[in-house]
Amino acid sequence: MPKTLPNDPKPMEWLASDWSQGYVASYKPFTFVDGEGVRCSIYVSGCKFACPGCYNKVAQNFHYGSPYTQELEDRIISDLGQSYVQGLTLLGGEPFLNTAVCLQLCRRVRAEFGHTKDIWSWTGYKWDELLQDSPDKLALLGLLDILVDGRFLEAQKDLTLQFRGSSNQRIIDVPASLAAGTVKIWPRLVR
Ligand code: SF4
Repeated sequence: MPKTLPNDPKPMEWLASDWSQGYVASYKPFTFVDGEGVRCSIYVSGCKFACPGCYNKVAQNFHYGSPYTQELEDRIISDLGQSYVQGLTLLGGEPFLNTAVCLQLCRRVRAEFGHTKDIWSWTGYKWDELLQDSPDKLALLGLLDILVDGRFLEAQKDLTLQFRGSSNQRIIDVPASLAAGTVKIWPRLVR
């Protein structure tokens, strides 16, 4: 039986309702690196995976940054309204341990833009772990187009990969995977 590591959660072990403070580390409009096309990226605060070599260690703290506000949400929606913006990206920290913020924002994006804007999210959870976890995590998954899953593993670090830091991580087509009942990789994956 493999040993359960501290950053290997059991199903439902970490709940956003226990951990999230509703804080945001950063908001970056009009970026080119957090997914396909021009994007607006929100970095929510707090992550429990504690991956060695984490790209955003300060945002592991659930109190880092400032509270999510209606004003910030309105600004994100306004920025997303630009015709050249392809979509929203959720990063962290851990979006799935900040589901109250991410669900509110993603539901508003769908209400305002339908599927004319796409939603990407990064997560330290693996796909199968999310499927076994809490209803809020499943609800957020159901609002996504693309999920980049899995911990950052230094031993598998590869800076040549598209949108990923280590080769264990996958760029997953969420609607296709949910419909098929198995992971379907993003069809436009280059490397
Ligand atoms: S899952 Fe991401 S944000 Fe969390 S510790 Fe690992 S690399 Fe950092």
